[in-house]
Amino acid sequence: MTRIVILGGGFAAIGVAQRLERLLRPSDAELTLISRENFSLFTPMLPEVSSGALGTRDIVTPIRAQIRRTHFILADVTGVDLAKREVSYAHTLTGVTERIGYDQLVLTTGASTSTFGLPGIPERVFALKTLEDAAILRNRLIWLLELADDAGELERKKLLTLVVVGGGFTGVETTGEMAELFRNVERFYPNVRPGDVRIVLIEGGATLLPGLPPRMGSYAEKFLRKRGVEVVTGDGVRGADDEGIELLSGRRIETRTIVWSAGIKPRVLAGTESLPRSKNGAILVNPDMSVSGFSGIWACGDCAAVPAGAGSFYPPTAQHAIREAPVLAENIVWSLRQKATRPFHYSSLGMMASLGARKAVAQLPGDRVLTGFLAWFLWRTYYLARLPGLDRKLRVAFDWTLELLFPRDISELRVYTRRAQSSAAADAGLLPRDENP
Ligand SMILES: Cc1cc2nc3c(=O)[nH]c(=O)nc-3n(C[C@H](O)[C@H](O)[C@H](O)COP(=O)(O)OP(=O)(O)OC[C@H]3O[C@@H](n4cnc5c(N)ncnc54)[C@H](O)[C@@H]3O)c2cc1C
Repeated sequence: MTRIVILGGGFAAIGVAQRLERLLRPSDAELTLISRENFSLFTPMLPEVSSGALGTRDIVTPIRAQIRRTHFILADVTGVDLAKREVSYAHTLTGVTERIGYDQLVLTTGASTSTFGLPGIPERVFALKTLEDAAILRNRLIWLLELADDAGELERKKLLTLVVVGGGFTGVETTGEMAELFRNVERFYPNVRPGDVRIVLIEGGATLLPGLPPRMGSYAEKFLRKRGVEVVTGDGVRGADDEGIELLSGRRIETRTIVWSAGIKPRVLAGTESLPRSKNGAILVNPDMSVSGFSGIWACGDCAAVPAGAGSFYPPTAQHAIREAPVLAENIVWSLRQKATRPFHYSSLGMMASLGARKAVAQLPGDRVLTGFLAWFLWRTYYLARLPGLDRKLRVAFDWTLELLFPRDISELRVYTRRAQSSAAADAGLLPRDENP
């Protein structure tokens, strides 16, 4: 029996496992998937969780509900021994370490937030990459309102100045959602006036949504400005301290809340450093997603650089990970049968960004652009259809319906957030700052 081990639990890992289950008989191969969470996260809806439009559990789907006969291990992969063909892992709940051998290894551990080592940034910023990040950010926004409602005018304005760094689709969507949340719940905070909330979005490129048709960026900018957001383009971040953020232009913004969506870096597992890498550290794969010089090693999704021709690579998006995964699985099967594998080819369907308040921008095939309500309707319909699991689809549709009738839920969720809690209190001068959160 061939032992196929898949590392990761996101779009790519689930796609590979599902296709292998279909292509291989149980007697052909033993399939194992190792991930540190027992769910996969539907990231396109994460900004809506951070603003309380959707509940935390609405956008996660249990891994076990998505696979049938793949053996699932809930563990943190701690290393790969490429020579011995073994993976070591520590069980997420018990910490017990184990090893598992493989004949074919699929690396799909995705990417993590990158702050490019800028001074003062890693320890201060709020990221938006995991479910925990979204829960922490939501709590933070609610706590800022709670603290501001009780503070003097100067302090209130300081607390309610928020900076979002990165004007790609995550930054734009998060900014739109934050603006929506503040408008939606301000009635509960009688001492907070609309002018007290200041949201600044910073993008290093010349327009928002760089890399997409310029009309999308200009529509997003105009719309966000109309919602009261200050948009700064063509400026980067130099660093941050407890009281603010400094830009490359020398401009300083006094803030205690920085949301970081300016970059990701591929996750590198210990022991895989010798695999060929692209400039940004992703595993450089062949067009069929195998790794040159390492037989039986495959990679796709955000942790891999999949060639797109003419020296370029497919972008790290869910759209691509979902398409790469089944092709990778088929190629494993072809290689086991000693047949020719096939290269991955895909033309993007386009990208969409929701801006809040029932507006969005969408790039359609052929570089056509749709903006406004129709784009928002398309965004919701498309992503609802792609969310795995009928129960999740129903929950999200129900939450969206409730949102039309009721204000957003401002109850805090304390379970995750010792660090965020102490830093919010430190920001308000209520506690000394925790140096080792
Ligand atoms: C806020 C946000 C919004 C986005 N919106 C869109 C969008 O609208 N459209 C789009 O196409 N893309 C979007 N993306 C990008 C998309 O989420 C990624 O491209 C996609 O998730 C990549 O899939 P993946 O399977 O490669 O990695 P991931 O989905 O990141 O999955 C990696 C998995 O590996 C697991 N893992 C990592 N390290 C270990 C380890 N050591 N041990 C065990 N398990 C491990 C992780 O827990 C995770 O389950 C968005 C991303 C974010 C953050």
